[in-house]
Amino acid sequence: MKVKVVSILEDNYMYLVIEEQSKEALAVDPAVPHRMLEIVKREGVSLTAILTTHHHWDHARGNEALAKEIPGLRVYGGDDRIGALTDKVTDAQELKFGAINVRCLSTPCHTSGHVCYFLWEDECADAPAVFTGDTLFVAGCGRFFEGTAEQMHHNLTEVLGKTSVHKTRAKKVFCGHEYTIKNLKFALKVEPQNERVKEMLTWARGRDDDDKPTVPSTLVEEFDYNPFLRLSEESVQKFTGQTEPVEVLRALRREQDRLSRPKERPLAHAMLALEWGLLGP
Ligand SMILES: [Zn+2]
Repeated sequence: MKVKVVSILEDNYMYLVIEEQSKEALAVDPAVPHRMLEIVKREGVSLTAILTTHHHWDHARGNEALAKEIPGLRVYGGDDRIGALTDKVTDAQELKFGAINVRCLSTPCHTSGHVCYFLWEDECADAPAVFTGDTLFVAGCGRFFEGTAEQMHHNLTEVLGKTSVHKTRAKKVFCGHEYTIKNLKFALKVEPQNERVKEMLTWARGRDDDDKPTVPSTLVEEFDYNPFLRLSEESVQKFTGQTEPVEVLRALRREQDRLSRPKERPLAHAMLALEWGLLGP
């Protein structure tokens, strides 16, 4: 299983996942369709399906154009608001594309129909991958546009966290946005003594200088520096003034929202940006 990471728009990622035996390919959130088609052509693969994490335009807006271009293309997602949707998936539903297995993980909160996709190949040395859209970012988590802290807590610790139980195989995390530096700056505010956060920030700045993505990370590593996965740490609890995990998470998200709120942007623009899911991490 090969994953092509494609940086698009201001800070989004779309992905092309290739099954190397059959040359069948899946696109995850292909929001810039002509670029996706160029890559499909260059790689000499046939695109058979789109996996859409959620309906926001910067993830789903390429679906219609690709569906028009490729007859028979399946478009998977968990929300009726997703363009060109052919197959609405449910939690724990499994799909198969050649040797690639896909497990759909319902993760409502950023949007009510958000789905993460866990991909693996049987009898293959490649690490499994989880496409987390705007639920889990490198060193952060998505905004709670259509859900609650309780839901995000369940998504992060149960749904995604559990896929990291087998620590021998680090699951790769491919998220929807490059927010890593912003997220790590916030993580450093939360845990000024966390050496892993400092190391990661230095590394992420180097990647940025070289114009290289910080994805994928691994779920195992995320537990070392992502404050949203470190709710039981004393330092994180101290920062939030809370001890109950859901309350720690709620307070973290609220604080990051407050810090990243655009200050000089006129209200109308801010509302529009909010509606389109454009407001940073
Ligand atoms: Zn979004």
